[in-house]
Amino acid sequence: MPEPLAGAGVSPGVGAGPVRTIAGAVPEPAADARHGGDAAAEKAAALAALEAVAADLEDRGAQAGERGNTSGMEVLNAQALMARDPGLADGVSAKVDEGVAAARAVYEAFGVYREMLAGAGEYLAARVSDLDDIRDRAIARLLGLPVPGIPESDEPFVLVARDLAPADTALLDPAMVVAFVTEEGGPTSHTAIIARTLGVPAVVALPGATALADGTRVLVDGAAGTVLVEPAEAEIAAARAAADARTALLSGPAGPGATKDGHAVPLLANIGGPRDVEQALANGAEGVGLYRTEFLFLDRSDPPSDAEQEEAYRAVLDAFPGGKVVVRTLDAGADKPLAFLPPPGDEPNPALGERGLRMARSHPDVLRAQLAALARAAAGTAARLEVMAPMVTDAEEAAAFAAECRTAGIERPGVMIEVPAAALRAGDLVTEVEFFSIGTNDLTQYACAADRQIGGLAAFQDPWRPAVLDLVAMTAAPAEGAGKSCGVCGEAAGDPVLACVLVGLGVTTLSMSAPSLPLVRAALSRHTLDECRTAAAAARAARTAAAAKEAARAHLPGLAELGL
Ligand code: PEP
Ligand code: MG
Repeated sequence: MPEPLAGAGVSPGVGAGPVRTIAGAVPEPAADARHGGDAAAEKAAALAALEAVAADLEDRGAQAGERGNTSGMEVLNAQALMARDPGLADGVSAKVDEGVAAARAVYEAFGVYREMLAGAGEYLAARVSDLDDIRDRAIARLLGLPVPGIPESDEPFVLVARDLAPADTALLDPAMVVAFVTEEGGPTSHTAIIARTLGVPAVVALPGATALADGTRVLVDGAAGTVLVEPAEAEIAAARAAADARTALLSGPAGPGATKDGHAVPLLANIGGPRDVEQALANGAEGVGLYRTEFLFLDRSDPPSDAEQEEAYRAVLDAFPGGKVVVRTLDAGADKPLAFLPPPGDEPNPALGERGLRMARSHPDVLRAQLAALARAAAGTAARLEVMAPMVTDAEEAAAFAAECRTAGIERPGVMIEVPAAALRAGDLVTEVEFFSIGTNDLTQYACAADRQIGGLAAFQDPWRPAVLDLVAMTAAPAEGAGKSCGVCGEAAGDPVLACVLVGLGVTTLSMSAPSLPLVRAALSRHTLDECRTAAAAARAARTAAAAKEAARAHLPGLAELGL
């Protein structure tokens, strides 16, 4: 029997289907590409390709609209209009008349527009990537190459890519994608986070994933982190039965999170917008611990309006009457670029650049507008709004953010602890704010100096590393001393074994992708607070991530019952 391919399993469940790969970049047509002399036929081919691209974009826009994704629909319709621009068509025709081959003529005609847009200020510059996308789609059609972007399929498929950016997945139909497999991306990459939120099984950091030919049937096991090529029907059935058995074990009544001896640990959901609320409630979330507001606006080139923001925030607050909703202000930059919040200059290391709260230095108006919209949304709702800033480094920044919040009428400002400097000096920060929320994804990335998007560094991005556990403990202790809450909203909170350790380290709430809630609830309910503390101390005493996990497990006897 062939061995399965092994990567990192980041979203549990089993998915089987044909591979569909996101095509790579479309090459630039050769500068000297000439047509054979039939200019009329060449022009017709170029214009037909542009029209086909426009029709396809319009069609996908309509589909996005039907799924309630109006911003996606608007972007796609605007792109369709660009593809049908008469000036562009004239430019292509003129090039073909000079003897230039259709694909190269398209490339050059778009080049003229591209330069105009790129030099026309922030707003229009953000449209350049839309234009490049149309150009590449038309060239791919003319050269018979695979069209870039999310592949089309008339049957459910396994999406394979080098990596997935949040923007790639904005238009995904979760009903059609049975699993994700990527070559890059660690367990805390946004591919992994999106997969968990959608409840789609996923394996990341799988070497050679993109070499899997389109149409190859594969079986993806997102818990084991394996991909089996051309599986037998019996193997698919066995994998599905095992996944179903685990789901059945967890389908008991939800109830609030607590250890076996009744120490309450509120279990909250990480969401990217109102569309994730239903799944959060279905999994028994007691509130929202991380509302990633930048996910609302990834496909936008202009800032969202005040009314639009207010609506997106109120929709979530209304869903949790009496519960807590922690909203994070825009965390733009690095792998979540927002076209309307560009960094001030070129950044060789975007993860170490102007991201998160730092962006407010150059765009204070955007932060103020967001806080005002949040305050308006909270007025009259029964949820408790808390607002936190991402990527905070020191007490001065924390104080400035808290002051902005209070000026806007937000009474409970907090900060994310994801920069090691902030964790090391948590005692300074704690007096400035009402709560902490530890972002273990970035905290691990920065503590271990390992970019979370690079699959080959997955071993460095492991929050089980004792150094990361130390930073968590150093953050939780001053929060406890000050009587303030200290949650974890990084992906570590969704690991049922690590969740017990985090509670043992002094963490007071856990927030995770909704599908992770049942298993974490079950793991906590099978252990006392003392057991969690002992497991945490054993993990911190270890020297490696693997040893820390093993040491913790030895003190958590209830895991076996859950098959963990
Ligand atoms: C984190 O860094 O742990 C976090 C929760 O924020 P994000 O994953 O959105 O960067
Ligand atoms: Mg983060």
